[in-house]
Amino acid sequence: MVQIFDQMAETAARLLLRQGTVTGVTDLPGQLRQIDMETSPGSWSPGQKVQVHISGRVLRTFTPSRWTERSVSLLVHTVGSTPASRWAGGLSVGAGVRMLGPRPSLDLSRLAGAPIMVGDETSVGLAAAWSSHGNAPAVASVFECDSPEELGAALGILQLGAADVLVKRDSVDGHLDALTEGVVEAVRRHPDAPLVLTGRSQTISAIRRHLKGANLRPTSFVKTYWDPNRTGLD
Ligand SMILES: Cc1cc2nc3c(=O)[nH]c(=O)nc-3n(C[C@H](O)[C@H](O)[C@H](O)COP(=O)(O)OP(=O)(O)OC[C@H]3O[C@@H](n4cnc5c(N)ncnc54)[C@H](O)[C@@H]3O)c2cc1C
Repeated sequence: MVQIFDQMAETAARLLLRQGTVTGVTDLPGQLRQIDMETSPGSWSPGQKVQVHISGRVLRTFTPSRWTERSVSLLVHTVGSTPASRWAGGLSVGAGVRMLGPRPSLDLSRLAGAPIMVGDETSVGLAAAWSSHGNAPAVASVFECDSPEELGAALGILQLGAADVLVKRDSVDGHLDALTEGVVEAVRRHPDAPLVLTGRSQTISAIRRHLKGANLRPTSFVKTYWDPNRTGLD
């Protein structure tokens, strides 16, 4: 029975989804893999998502990071043997990709002024989209990550400028104090800047709690990108 549903999903995906053809695959430090694709024109804007068809009924969500009339790029954080990591790891030039989108996610068209960007490796695509296609470059950025050296190098290669704060993740969340303090500092320094907050669910909650505790209420655009206890958030 499951097989029949998977076959129906494969057929629907072939018929209904946007087609892309991979034109470049670039491994960046920080376990990021940039996928460049040729595709038909779309009305792309920063903060949107695409849902990539992995197989059967499995979709995974990414942020268009850069685009032109006939191309779009994604930045995928590869994290071991997950469906998205295997998919991204198996791509090469000429491979076909099926995607749903662009679809709305964070509506950054409402963003007044230069933002503070906060997130992790999964947020680098959004930071790149904003840097290339947004109205005003970010005034500050704060990221948690597995390796500050590597993520810093990736941000440099992508020409996103140096992040103000890069905090090394630790397995028992001992790093959250330094991370949340970095965000509180950035908000104090730029009180009028909107906050764009994406990444891991628990980190987002901790940051929001600390901001509230510090009596800071920046205009916020928030979206959970992943959660250790869940799969395939969209
Ligand atoms: C709107 C939106 C936009 C997104 N944009 C991007 C993007 O541009 N680039 C990007 O890389 N991701 C992005 N994500 C996050 C991505 O969709 C998730 O990380 C997704 O779970 C990856 O699928 P997977 O097959 O690797 O893991 P899943 O099968 O979903 O999960 C398997 C396990 O891996 C864990 N896991 C998932 N992601 C990570 C991670 N990053 N680090 C550590 N553990 C993880 C899960 O919690 C779970 O325990 C976005 C998510 C949303 C909702």
